[in-house]
Amino acid sequence: MPNSAGKRFKPTKYIPVSTAATLLVGSTTLFFVFTCPWLTKVISPAVPLYNGLVFLFVLANFSMATFMDPGVYPRADEDEDKDDDFRAPLYKNVEIKGIQVRMKWCATCHFYRPPRCSHCSVCDNCVEDFDHHCPWVNNCIGRRNYRYFFLFLLSLSVHMLGVFSSGLIFVLHHRESLAALHTTVTLVVMCIAGLFFIPVLGLTGFHMVLVARGRTTNEQVTGKFRGGVNPFTRGCCGNVDYVLCSPLAPRYMLDPKKKPHVKIQPPFIRPDFSERQITIKISDNGIHSTIISSKSKTSLDGLDEKEMQPPLPPKAERYNQLKGQLTSSEGEEQSPPLFTIMTSYLLTLSCHQIIPVCP
Ligand SMILES: [Zn+2]
Ligand SMILES: [Zn+2]
Repeated sequence: MPNSAGKRFKPTKYIPVSTAATLLVGSTTLFFVFTCPWLTKVISPAVPLYNGLVFLFVLANFSMATFMDPGVYPRADEDEDKDDDFRAPLYKNVEIKGIQVRMKWCATCHFYRPPRCSHCSVCDNCVEDFDHHCPWVNNCIGRRNYRYFFLFLLSLSVHMLGVFSSGLIFVLHHRESLAALHTTVTLVVMCIAGLFFIPVLGLTGFHMVLVARGRTTNEQVTGKFRGGVNPFTRGCCGNVDYVLCSPLAPRYMLDPKKKPHVKIQPPFIRPDFSERQITIKISDNGIHSTIISSKSKTSLDGLDEKEMQPPLPPKAERYNQLKGQLTSSEGEEQSPPLFTIMTSYLLTLSCHQIIPVCP
């Protein structure tokens, strides 16, 4: 159910998927609560176990088809398609296995849709190997989640058949007490399973044919290869193998929850010195001894080990005296003390080198 950013929230689009999930989970729960205890006792514990395993498989595939990224292509940036947008033709042709396949320009996503890709009007995204938009799973069915959708249909047909036949056994053994709660609930569950079994089975059969022929629902409905050859088919067994066993296609959309991890590598380990970062060594006999001014680490590389030695800490008494001079000089702009004059002078002279003062 991945949504494109900035899309408006429509609560109505969740009605079919909520109905499907409620019917599936609700009716199966009723079956396990009201029908299965008797089946376990009289028939075999294998019956509820089998139904439980199939139900879990249905639920897992349903969840995957619903929540998985179907293969959404990210839209091109405005800068990326700036030149193409006005001059580009509407279609471009590519050759696949000697057959010309047309790629249409997507005005929304700003790129030529790759072969088999189509723009879903509900999700407002271009989806790789687009099959159709399924309201029952509230997601597009595309390259990445078609396998799970197909397995969901297959397992749902098997599950419905299992629930219906198990319910039938229960009802046939309780013909005398049809008004009893357990029998009534079983009959209701059987009705739900029976009602949906025909359309689900029909859809499953349709997709089995599509898988065998290597087509998508979109290609079949739009008659893309009518009278022509399908360049995407791999032969019946190859098509089944591709749908069920091929490695999962990569995601093209970044997960918005995952923030990009910024890792700082060397040479940033060594801090850069800015022009303002100046070390002033205050010696005992004078005011300044060494001024180091540097712009970057490269300028520091040329310094000798000796010159790189950190300055000795000033004696506390002298330091306080100088500190007092500095503080007072900030307020007296008209007559700066000797320290300030000397510092300014030396700053002007020294650039990327050490000037020894007062040796
Ligand atoms: Zn598109
Ligand atoms: Zn869609």
